[in-house]
Amino acid sequence: MGDNKKTKTIKTIKIDVDKCNGCRACEVICSAFHAAPRYSSNNPARSRIRILRDPFRDIYVPVYAGEYTVAECAGRDKYTIDGKEYDECSFCRASCPSRDEFKEPDSGLPLKCDMCEGEEEPLCVKWCLVDALTIEEREEEVEDRKEQEDLEIGLESLATKFGMDKIMDAVARLSKKD
Ligand code: SF4
Ligand code: SF4
Repeated sequence: MGDNKKTKTIKTIKIDVDKCNGCRACEVICSAFHAAPRYSSNNPARSRIRILRDPFRDIYVPVYAGEYTVAECAGRDKYTIDGKEYDECSFCRASCPSRDEFKEPDSGLPLKCDMCEGEEEPLCVKWCLVDALTIEEREEEVEDRKEQEDLEIGLESLATKFGMDKIMDAVARLSKKD
């Protein structure tokens, strides 16, 4: 029997705020990719990545749409990084009631980045010509839960049918055969 571990490739998008120039190409391609029919229109308000822009202070922060939340949080932190002050919510990915980002403009339904499901590479990464967005891949060992769950369900039904003692006897006999 295996040790129920398998290797999974984890993809992470790295964001380099210093490199972003606020061109919004990522917003355009994301909204076009998710338009129905695909590429029939583009509208940054429908994008799953939004650029927080403040050109007078040279601030451009790409933020990805994350989880939906029903209530706004109580946090009102401010960050100063390299002499630039960032407002509350600047780095937050939540689709939350306190702002318009990450909501489908017509329906108000929450939007979430799906890593461009089906594409080889996230399109926002591909379209970011200054490499403010890059992809990083790493291998991680994860529990093969599905296999484990199937095994447990199978054992449980056998135990119900034959009784645990008989199952244990059979396992003992089988292990002696090896
Ligand atoms: S495409 Fe790149 S440089 Fe342009 S806004 Fe998006 S992250 Fe910034
Ligand atoms: S990875 Fe795809 S879905 Fe996510 S923000 Fe980028 S373009 Fe949009």
